[in-house]
Amino acid sequence: MTIKNVTVAGSGVLGYQIAFQAAFHHYKVTVYDISDEVLEKAKAKFNSLSEALKNEMNATDEQLALTFNNLYYSSDLAEAVKDADLLIESVPENPQIKQEFYEKLAAVAPEKTIFATNTSTLLPSALAPYTGRPNQFIALHFANDIRKYNTAEIMGHSGTDQAVFDLLVSFAKSIGMVALPIYKEQPAYILNSLLVPFLDAALELWGKGVADPQIIDKTWMVATGAPLGPFGFIDVIGINTAFNIRKMKADATQDPVKILTVKRLKEEFLDLGKLGTSSGEGFYQYPNPAYKDKDFLK
Ligand code: NAD
Repeated sequence: MTIKNVTVAGSGVLGYQIAFQAAFHHYKVTVYDISDEVLEKAKAKFNSLSEALKNEMNATDEQLALTFNNLYYSSDLAEAVKDADLLIESVPENPQIKQEFYEKLAAVAPEKTIFATNTSTLLPSALAPYTGRPNQFIALHFANDIRKYNTAEIMGHSGTDQAVFDLLVSFAKSIGMVALPIYKEQPAYILNSLLVPFLDAALELWGKGVADPQIIDKTWMVATGAPLGPFGFIDVIGINTAFNIRKMKADATQDPVKILTVKRLKEEFLDLGKLGTSSGEGFYQYPNPAYKDKDFLK
């Protein structure tokens, strides 16, 4: 088994970044999406991504020209996967859409094609039955802004072939990722298993009125040397995302502290259009958040 031809299904927030990253690292990449109009939008996003790579990572014009040469486009699934050694699925995080996508894909993909899902919240074992090839199905999970935050969590389900797992670890490294093998299925992988409870704990300290966000961040930053604290992080992730995750938990548990925290996030932030870095204000004001001030840690 070798990987030369890659198909990326879904060219949204994550998919187009994955496609460009693989093309930049010399793979032939076909981008598949639901329509030619959506694919046109992906092409425009590739142009801005290539500017970012030039400015931030010193990518050369030659490297970028080769990257564009490695990119192909199709809105016909059978056509898009006909030569694929690996298909990376990055379609919306909706179980129904994913299930239907795999059922269609299973009917048209060549036998050799390995399927990898970029799902953030589903387990590969939940999707494996629809793939028609559970032994060649695995999760390959990227983080947003993959050129900078280049983690690739690789996680099979109990039926994934070891050879497929090992191949995906090498593939992830070959496209400039730090490969992070996970040996057992774990909801939320490693990163979010650590991050979500950490951010939850910070939000509850604030929600209960124990301390101010800046003091909580300062505590973390002084004590650990971290460059930002949980509230700085929440601003980057987006307060709407933090709200959505907490709201689901508050609804499920009816825990009074969780309900109060969700209410504060809504009334003090979302209702005022304060979404974090994306809107210029969240727990901090941007582009110069207070935690970057030289006196913040005093
Ligand atoms: P998105 O909504 O931005 O993009 C989804 C893309 O899939 C769109 O281009 C859409 O047109 C396309 N699509 C819709 N239905 C399709 C179908 N049937 N076949 C092919 N394409 C279809 O979503 P996203 O944020 O890029 O998320 C995609 C996956 O990546 C999800 O599983 C998500 O959990 C995961 N992920 C997202 C992030 C993130 O920060 N956004 C981070 C890591 C992983």
